[in-house]
Amino acid sequence: MTYVIDPPLMSVVPVHGGGLFPVRRIFCIGKNYADHVQEMGGDAKSDPPVFFTKPADAVVESGACIPYPMATDNLHFEGELVVALQRGGRALATREQAGALIFGTAAGCDLTRRDHQAAAKKAGGPWDTAKGFDHSAPMGEIGRTQDFLPDSFDDAHLLTTVNGETLQDAPLSTMIWSVPEIIIELSKLFELCPGDLIFTGTPAGVGALNEGDRVAIKIGGLPECRFSIGGS
Ligand code: MN
Repeated sequence: MTYVIDPPLMSVVPVHGGGLFPVRRIFCIGKNYADHVQEMGGDAKSDPPVFFTKPADAVVESGACIPYPMATDNLHFEGELVVALQRGGRALATREQAGALIFGTAAGCDLTRRDHQAAAKKAGGPWDTAKGFDHSAPMGEIGRTQDFLPDSFDDAHLLTTVNGETLQDAPLSTMIWSVPEIIIELSKLFELCPGDLIFTGTPAGVGALNEGDRVAIKIGGLPECRFSIGGS
């Protein structure tokens, strides 16, 4: 049998030092830094982390100019550590099992239509249009774990600058669920697979982006995630 339309191209993310990482799915965690939960009007003690997804073709290579999305007046940046999985697994129990799934990590941005998210929270509706829109997941090159060990991230800071001004600066150690804990929790809900990406949440300091803004996200020694916002 042949395809009745052209099959879509596989989404890929470049790997530092060479190669392409094929993207199967994009999982994201929200409310994973207490100071960000607070700035959004919540309380991390009573508001546990939540999972949501983006389509695989939302990834955008670092250096791109991203068009200002349709249907929003309030596009926000959320600088995040991204974890790339090389192996699958389900119902994982230990940090060692979770760690064995990791291919590498990257700096990324969970672009958000904040107006849609606020409306969805108010209505108790889904977050898809707030989070899963076109070009909503810009990412830097993935650093392999042997070059950029996850353990070394305990002391690493996530830095987001917009037009050169630092707006997010937080140690990754302030995550509520650590990277292995996120993988364990996700594996209780989904059978994880090679090619899955996980956006691990954003710290405080998120804000609006406008046409012409230049964003850079830096995490430790990982390749930077850079992009700019173009016209709609
Ligand atoms: Mn986020």
